[in-house]
Amino acid sequence: MCFLMNIEEVFITDVCDECTICLEICPVNAIISGSPYMIGCECILCGKCINVCPSCAIEYY
Ligand code: SF4
Ligand code: SF4
Repeated sequence: MCFLMNIEEVFITDVCDECTICLEICPVNAIISGSPYMIGCECILCGKCINVCPSCAIEYY
């Protein structure tokens, strides 16, 4: 469960190890796999990917 409020942008940092977990949790398929993984404009800022990333690779502001 995510209680984050007022997120303006979510992004994936270079500590991502391409595990694919965030791809499976994103409700709008906004995460683009590749090197590097990226978050597309479909993102609705729900914060779910931040909470599941085992590498703490997803940051926000
Ligand atoms: S869950 Fe984290 S480590 Fe895994 S692919 Fe997504 S950003 Fe990368
Ligand atoms: S914040 Fe939500 S919508 Fe945006 S990429 Fe992460 S899981 Fe997908």
